[in-house]
Amino acid sequence: RAKEEGRGIYRFYTAALTDKANERLSMERRLRRALERDEFLLHYQPLIRIADRRIVGFEALARWQEPGNGLIPPGSFIPLAEETGIILPLGERVLRMACRQMKSWLDAGHDIATMAVNLSPRQFHLPDIDEIVSGILTETGLPAQYLELELTESALIEQGIGAEMRLAALRKLGVRVAIDDFGTGYSSLSYLKRFPINKLKVDQSFVRDIPSDPADMEITSAIIGLARNLRLDCIAEGVETEAQLDFLRQQDCDFAQGYLFSKPVPAADAESLLGHGIEMHAPMARSSF
Ligand code: C2E
Ligand code: MG
Ligand code: MG
Ligand code: MG
Repeated sequence: RAKEEGRGIYRFYTAALTDKANERLSMERRLRRALERDEFLLHYQPLIRIADRRIVGFEALARWQEPGNGLIPPGSFIPLAEETGIILPLGERVLRMACRQMKSWLDAGHDIATMAVNLSPRQFHLPDIDEIVSGILTETGLPAQYLELELTESALIEQGIGAEMRLAALRKLGVRVAIDDFGTGYSSLSYLKRFPINKLKVDQSFVRDIPSDPADMEITSAIIGLARNLRLDCIAEGVETEAQLDFLRQQDCDFAQGYLFSKPVPAADAESLLGHGIEMHAPMARSSF
C-alpha cells in the first residue's frame, strides 16, 4: 500500500516536472518566434529631477506584445531569455530601439540628458560588449553621452576582473553606467571604489515603506549619503507617494522615478509628457504596468 502510494507520488512528481520542462520549452519557442516576428517593444518611464519635477530622461523597459496574449511584462520573460541566451539578440534590439528613440527626441528639440537601458549580466559578460554598444551608437547616430547602461551589482561582482575591463571599455566610449537595484546584491561596497560608475539607483524595496519603516529610511538615507560622498548621482526607484518624495528631498536625493510621476508609457505618451510636463498628468493614469 505504502509502496503503491510512493509510486503514485513519484509519478505525480515526474508528471509535474515534465509539465514544467514542457512549459519552459514552449515558452522558449515562443520567445524565439517573437524575435523573428519582432514582437518586442519599449515603454519609457520618466526620470525626474526632484528640485523642479522636470523630466531629465527615461528608462527604457521591455514589453512583449504577443498576438492574442496582450502585453507581457519583462518579469515573465527576461529570466528565461537570460537563461537561454535569447537575451543577447533581444537585448541588442532593445538597445537599438532605445537609442533610435532617444536620437529622434533629441532631433525634435527635447531637452533631455539620459536614455537608460538595462543590460543583463549575460550581455555585460560578452567580451565585445563595448563594440556592440559602439556599433549601435554609430548606427543610430546617438552621441554616447546620452546613453546610460544599468547593471546590477551581481553582474559586476560575479565577473571579477573581466568586469573591470569591460566597464572601462564601455566608459571609454563615453556612455554612463548606473547600478540598478542598489542595496539588494549582498555585495561588499569595496567595488564602488574600483569600478568607474556614475549613478546608484536605490532599489524600490527600500522606498516602498517610507515613511512607516525606520530601517528602510535609514538604508535609503545611507545610500544617498554614500552616493554623495563618492560623487555619484543617485536616483530613488519606485516613488509612489508625496511623503516618499518629501523624505527623499529632505535627504538631498536629486532624482526620482516612480508611479507618482508616471508609469512606463509607450513612446508617443512619453513624448507628450515631454511636451506638457509631468504635473499635468494624474499619477497612476495610463499604461498597463
Ligand atoms: P528595473 O530595471 O529595476 O525597472 C524598474 C521596474 O520597476 C519596472 O518594472 C518599473 O515599471 C517598475 N516601477 C517603476 N516605478 C514603480 C513604482 O512606483 N512602483 C512600483 N511598484 N514599480 C515601479 P518592469 O518594467 O516590469 O521591469 C522589471 C524588471 O525587468 C526591470 O527592473 C529590469 O530588471 C527588467 N527589464 C526590463 N526591461 C529590460 C530589458 O530591456 N533588458 C533587461 N536585461 N532587463 C529588463
Ligand atoms: Mg533598471
Ligand atoms: Mg531597479
Ligand atoms: Mg529590478
